[in-house]
This record gives sequence, structure tokens and C-alpha cells, in this order.
Amino acid sequence: GFSRRGIRGNFVPPIRSNGGNTGNMTSRIAGKGEEALDDSTRRCLEILCGPDGELPERLRNLEPRLIEHVSNEIMDRDPNVRWEDIAGLEHAKNCVTEMVIWPLLRPDIFKGCRSPGRGLLLFGPPGTGKTMIGKAIAGEAKATFFYISASSLTSKWIGEGEKLVRALFGVASCRQPAVIFVDEIDSLLSQRKSEGEHESSRRLKTQFLIEMEGFDGGTEQILLIGATNRPQELDEAARRRLTKRLYIPLPSSEARSWIIHNLLKKDGLFKLSEEDTDTICKLTKGYSGSDMKNLVKDASMGPLREALRQGIEISKLKKEDMRPVTLQDFENALQEVRPSVSLNELGTYEEWNKQFGSLS
Ligand code: ADP
Repeated sequence: GFSRRGIRGNFVPPIRSNGGNTGNMTSRIAGKGEEALDDSTRRCLEILCGPDGELPERLRNLEPRLIEHVSNEIMDRDPNVRWEDIAGLEHAKNCVTEMVIWPLLRPDIFKGCRSPGRGLLLFGPPGTGKTMIGKAIAGEAKATFFYISASSLTSKWIGEGEKLVRALFGVASCRQPAVIFVDEIDSLLSQRKSEGEHESSRRLKTQFLIEMEGFDGGTEQILLIGATNRPQELDEAARRRLTKRLYIPLPSSEARSWIIHNLLKKDGLFKLSEEDTDTICKLTKGYSGSDMKNLVKDASMGPLREALRQGIEISKLKKEDMRPVTLQDFENALQEVRPSVSLNELGTYEEWNKQFGSLS
């Protein structure tokens, strides 16, 4: 086992580091001496130390640079999305509130019969607000948010994915309550045993499932959210661990209208009549939330282009020189911004939802 004392056997306060006397927390990490650590890595580790100035047990055998990567790149201190920013999806919001936010806020009540699942799957077409929901959950539950794209584990971190996963769950457990959001989770937990499945990607998958098992039913306040637009690729083991599975569909007509309104109002550019808004909503059937955002962006260029055409120089242009956005601007933008999801894709999601989804 580990000795609880540092190499010098003396107490070292966790945060102050102006003298560099932080030997006892870093000395045993992956066999590196404190000399090998630069300032930023050292600072990162210090924040994770307990009140005794010691790095928590499960972080000690991890490489400092991986811990640093998790703390700086994967951990998001301020996800900054609120429920009100998300259009529609009332049903999903209600379910999520009861299934995951309340349990994270009141672990004392949500135990025994009420003990929550620790895995949530959000599936549906791309650009529909799955990531937004993940961030909003973290915000509402006052939890630390960790975002990782599973495909980066297999592409960018070749051969090291397994270690990074361990660092990710390790840091999350020191930062509870925590929400770990794994985008494109299908690429990590896919059922396809293709020729391409190397030993290393199998190990990565196993490590991931082990970590998930680790906090299942335990006392840890960690929620794992997987997002995918290919739910049919998930195997049985993955489905078993992601106990709640919510379909996040394309935005309804009302939700599309809300997105237009919300984005333009922020910039003081909203002056569309109800009729015009209805027309735009009819013309945008099948557009995702992210398509809608791109459409609004493009339409809002209309007034700017027109002012410049009238001879105003860009350097002299004032906000008042620009008219509000019109239906015509949207009609022009519709030529440029096409829907990114095809209708026959939707059938697949609905089928999978019927078979495996938590709620229809
Ligand atoms: P996903 O994770 O489902 O692929 P995101 O949550 O990353 O999609 O959404 C991408 C962007 O599209 C968001 O930043 C937001 O601007 C817009 N968007 C998507 N869905 C919604 C929604 N339901 N309400 C408001 N904006 C949305």
C-alpha cells in the first residue's frame, strides 16, 4: 500500500506553491520526482489534493500530463447553458430533472429503492441539443462537467486512450458531483467486431465499462451521459449500463420558432410578424436546432449586406443603419442552408426508440 506521508514526512499545504515545496503529493506519481513537473502541471495536481496535502489514492499512479489534460481540456468549469436556452424537448427536460438532477442534488433521498441509474443515453440526429442538455444538467445539479468525444480517444490518443479514461474517471471522482459527457459513444462501445477492432480498442472499451461499473450503485456522485446519432451500433453491454435512454428528436415547429425569436431578439433584430414566423417554420420542416442557428446567422447578414450595398462604408456603419431581419432574408438564407438530416434517417431513430428507448 501507499504510505500516507510524503517523502519528507512533513505536512505541505495544498495550494500555496511559491516555494515549490510540494514534494509529498507529486513524488509518487508514476515514479516521477517533483523536478520533472512544470508549474502548470504542479498547479493542476495541487488543486486535486485533499486537505492533508496529499493527492487522492486513485490519482497517484496516473501520469501527471494526463491528469493535466483532463483538468484543462476535458473539464469545463463553466458550461454556461441553462434549461431556458434549450428550445422544446420539454419531455426530455422533465425526465432528466427527475432521473438525474434531483438525485445529484439530494443523494440522501435517492438511495435504496430510489437509487438512480448512473448512465444516461441521449440519442437522435446531430445538432438537436444533446450536448446542451448535458451542460445544462451539470449547471442545474451544480456538478463539474467533463466533455470528451469518444472518437478522439480512438484517433488522437492512440494506445493511450485507456490511461486517459482512467485519468478522466479519477479526476471526476475528486470533483463530485460530476457529469461525464461522452460524445459519439457508439465509436467506443460499438457492437461491431470488425476486422479493425484491435486489441487496444478492445482494452479501451473494457476499461471504460469497468470504470462505469465502479460507480454503479456505489456512493459516488458521478453521472455518465453518452450521446450518439447511431444508437443501433451500441451493443447489449453498453445498453445495460446506460439504463435511461432518451430520444432527442428534431425540433418541433414551435421549437424552431422559439430558436429564431430567441437568437434575433438577443441582437435586437427581431421584427418578424407572426405570419412571417409561421411561414419560416413551414419552410424549415426537418431542420435541426443547429441548422436553425446557421439559418438565422445567414439571414442576419441580409441587413448588413444591404446597408453596404447602399454605399455605407463598413468602418462607418452604425447599428441603426441596419434594418431588422425580414422574411425575404430568411428566404434567401434557405437557399444556402439546407437541412443536414435526411428524413429516412429518422425512421431508424424511431424504431430504436420503440425497442430500447425509455419513453415513447
Ligand atoms: P448535439 O449534441 O445534439 O449534436 P448540440 O447540443 O451540440 O447538438 O447543438 C449544437 C448547436 O445547435 C447548439 O449550440 C445550439 O446553438 C443549437 N441547438 C441545437 N438544438 C437546440 C435546441 N433544442 N434549442 C436551442 N438551440 C439548439
